[in-house]
Amino acid sequence: MDVVVIGGGQAGLAAAFYLRRAGLEYVVLDDAPEPGGAWTHTWESLRLFSPAEFSSLPGWQMPPSRGGNPDAAHVVDYLRRYEERYEIPVERPVHVTEVRQAAGGFVVVGVDGAHETRTWRAPVVVSATGTWSRPFVPAIDGRSTFLGRQLHCSRYVSPAAHEGRRVMVVGGANSGAQIAADLALDPAVPEILWCTLDEPRYLPDDVDGRELFRLASARVRGEEGARGVGGLGDIVVVPPVREARDTGALRRLPMPQRLTRTGAVWADGTTREFDDLVWCTGFRPALRHLDGLDLPRESGHVVTDGPRVEGVPGLYLVGYGDWAGPASATLIGVGQWARAAVDDACALLGRGTVRRR
Ligand code: FAD
Repeated sequence: MDVVVIGGGQAGLAAAFYLRRAGLEYVVLDDAPEPGGAWTHTWESLRLFSPAEFSSLPGWQMPPSRGGNPDAAHVVDYLRRYEERYEIPVERPVHVTEVRQAAGGFVVVGVDGAHETRTWRAPVVVSATGTWSRPFVPAIDGRSTFLGRQLHCSRYVSPAAHEGRRVMVVGGANSGAQIAADLALDPAVPEILWCTLDEPRYLPDDVDGRELFRLASARVRGEEGARGVGGLGDIVVVPPVREARDTGALRRLPMPQRLTRTGAVWADGTTREFDDLVWCTGFRPALRHLDGLDLPRESGHVVTDGPRVEGVPGLYLVGYGDWAGPASATLIGVGQWARAAVDDACALLGRGTVRRR
């Protein structure tokens, strides 16, 4: 085995595409029962920020979708077919618990579907485990005293579960705006409170994922004045967000000071009551399997140069977020970082090449 890839979502598959091209021997270990990675868990109304032709992994364009941008089921189907098309050897389910350095590379330890502990050895490891399995909820006074339902957006499905209930949604990025809009546009949900730390920053209405990717690419190329996505704003104005914003259904409140048994209290003394609380407060990288390697960290992230982990030859992180390569956590953006990892691995092994496009 030349390479063990951990994680079989879009990032792991993009790495597999280039490993196959390079002629290296590899396996992908994925702890999910089915293909699709995080896209198998998203809420029902979620649509991509971009059309299918701007949401493709390397090699094969995502087939067009009907009725606007693709939904999550379309992406899952694409990823399943991508695996088949490139005959990617994915072992499922295998949950990787540990990666250790050993003579000649790494030992990867995992538990398979029969609860058997298994090990793999390889000089190169690509970690592509995403963030979905590590939802983040911030500390706030009174959180444990609130008697209503609390869920992270990773568990949100649709407004049906909130019928007849007043809901507070916390979080000012895309998940927060989309879930608040989803609930606000459903007449069966009587009241929505949308709380964000800062005033929401909407991207211009005509800017979607294509422009975000263009900006991220310009930043990678070091182009003058390329401010990146954050320079434009945060929230992509997908149709439901636009409708909820324009009809006044989506109005923002500042963050409350603390939660109470039945609601929340704000700094000016205002109190409000609600039944459910949806935390749209982000994720952290799922990197527990690398804890034993004691990787260098800066500002909370592993120190990388693109996908290459500083000081640990043969270890690559693909996907995760801009800190591991601008746009690496998007369908269209992950390919360039997967390719960079495989290019580097070929040089390290002294074998294989990723052919020029
Ligand atoms: P994942 O899809 O999470 O895949 C990781 C895989 O690794 C999973 O199968 C997981 O089960 C497995 N795994 C995890 N830990 C282990 C372990 N220890 N051992 C073995 N396997 C493990 N991107 C776009 O391009 N366009 C969009 O419109 C868009 N919209 C988004 C909307 C939302 C709400 C969110 C949250 C993200 C969106 N993204 C979008 C971002 C991005 O495409 C996803 O986050 C993407 O799923 C990340 O892919 P990944 O392969 O890195 O991780």
